[in-house]
Amino acid sequence: MEERLQKILANAGVASRRKCEQYILEGKVQVNDKVVTTLGVKADPDTDVITINGRPLRQPEKIVIALYKPKGVITSMSDPEGRKTVKDYLKGIKTRVYPIGRLDYDTEGLLLLTNDGELANRLMHPRHHVGKMYLATVKGVPHGDDLDKLKQGIMLEDGMTQPAEVEYYDVNPDKNEATISMIIYEGKNRQVRRMFEAIGHKVTLLKRVQFANITLQGLARGTHRKLTKSEVNELK
Ligand code: URA
Repeated sequence: MEERLQKILANAGVASRRKCEQYILEGKVQVNDKVVTTLGVKADPDTDVITINGRPLRQPEKIVIALYKPKGVITSMSDPEGRKTVKDYLKGIKTRVYPIGRLDYDTEGLLLLTNDGELANRLMHPRHHVGKMYLATVKGVPHGDDLDKLKQGIMLEDGMTQPAEVEYYDVNPDKNEATISMIIYEGKNRQVRRMFEAIGHKVTLLKRVQFANITLQGLARGTHRKLTKSEVNELK
C-alpha cells in the first residue's frame, strides 16, 4: 500500500516526520534510484526501493501477532460496509500486518497476523500440514460412527477433506448438544461447519483454540499479543 514518503521514513525509525520532510527537501531521499525533493510523493515500502543518504531503508521487523478474535468481527483490515474488523482490535500495532487465513464472522478464537508474506503462505498451504484445532458445539449428539466419517475425510461440494482428528470434548444430552474438538490440516471455506453439516449436525458455536504450536492461552477475548522469537521460530 502506498503511503507518503515522510511517513514511511518516520515509521522505519529514520527520524521524526518533520525531520524526514527536511531530508526529502534536501534531496537526500531516493525512490527507485530517483531523487525526490518534493513533499507529498507516495511510495510502497514493500515494493519500492527507498534509500536515504544512499543507504536502503531498514526493513520493518517481521512480526507475528496472535489475536483472540471475538464473534461478530470480519477477518479483514477494512470493511466497506462499516462492520467491525480485526484491525479494530490491533490498536498499538504500528506495523502493517495481515491475517494468515481467516475465521468466519461468527467464529471466535485464535487468528494469527503477520507482515511476513513467506511465512503466511507456508502456514496456509495444505502441503505443510499445519494443524488447526477447533471446538465446535453442535445441535444433537453425534454418534461415534459419524465422527469416524470425519476422521476418515468426508465429501463436501468442493471435494474430499483430508482426515481430521476428532474427539468428544463435552457431551450434554440434557441440552441435546455436544462439543467436539477437531483438528484439520487445510482451510476450505467454512470447512468445520460444512463437515458437521455433512453428518447432520449444525454448528452453533465455533472457536479456534490452536494454530500450529500457538494456543489461546493467556489471551482474553478481543486482546492480542506479539509472538516471541522462539514461538515464531517454532512456527517456521
Ligand atoms: N471452519 C469454519 O467453518 N469456520 C471458520 O471460521 C474456520 C474453520
